[in-house]
Amino acid sequence: MRIDVVTILPAVFREFLEASLIGRARAAGLLDVRVHDLRDYTDDPHRSVDDEPYGGGGGMVMTAPPWLKAVRAIAGADSAAHRILLSPQGERLDDARVQALAHEERLVLLCGRYEAVDERVRDLVVDSELSIGDYVLSGGEAPAMVVIEAISRQVPGVVGRQSSVANESFRTGLLDHPHYTRPPVVEGIEAPEVLRSGDHARIDAWRREQALEATRRKRPDLLGGEGSARKCFQ
Ligand code: SAM
Repeated sequence: MRIDVVTILPAVFREFLEASLIGRARAAGLLDVRVHDLRDYTDDPHRSVDDEPYGGGGGMVMTAPPWLKAVRAIAGADSAAHRILLSPQGERLDDARVQALAHEERLVLLCGRYEAVDERVRDLVVDSELSIGDYVLSGGEAPAMVVIEAISRQVPGVVGRQSSVANESFRTGLLDHPHYTRPPVVEGIEAPEVLRSGDHARIDAWRREQALEATRRKRPDLLGGEGSARKCFQ
């Protein structure tokens, strides 16, 4: 899968793209992430990409021409490239959306900054808007990293054991069950005996029950909808 990111802050992606699973996935050729500096696409001698808002008011607006030039140069005529503007006004990212995006061949992520992006960018070179939650950040870079990390976990081979991805919170309609590791006792709290018993039927049953319990306690809303709680009845 290929992901292109367009930003005025390309440097903030460097370590993120080299670290851990994403770094290894890129090195193994499973994920191709390219970061582009929007300022490379402006004709302004000062490399400026923003201007005063029409109508006045606070904050600067990102001008349309550099975005149009950048996105068209990067996505070209490739109709397989899904162009996404990170925006608090977009469709909220959730597990279902992550799954759908993971099936795309190519994504182009547009990271806004300042007060806004000129509306004509949406009209001309954006296929969809995506939000990571109902709050406003200063830029689309952190949201782009969230999208890249969430999607890359779904690319086969990126996470060593795909079974761990398949059993994670939300995928099953439930939250994940609690996890424990050595030492067996931590400040008087013992790891459940069943997990150390070697009895896999009992372990599976305990995990299903605990996943359901965790969901009831922390996210009862997940149990309310149609198609929820699939895992516990499988
Ligand atoms: N004035 C805009 C509004 O109220 O809708 C907010 C602009 S915000 C300060 C600047 C940029 O940060 C946005 O263009 C977007 O790219 C990014 N951004 C901020 N919050 C976001 C969120 N919750 N999800 C995705 N992107 C976000």
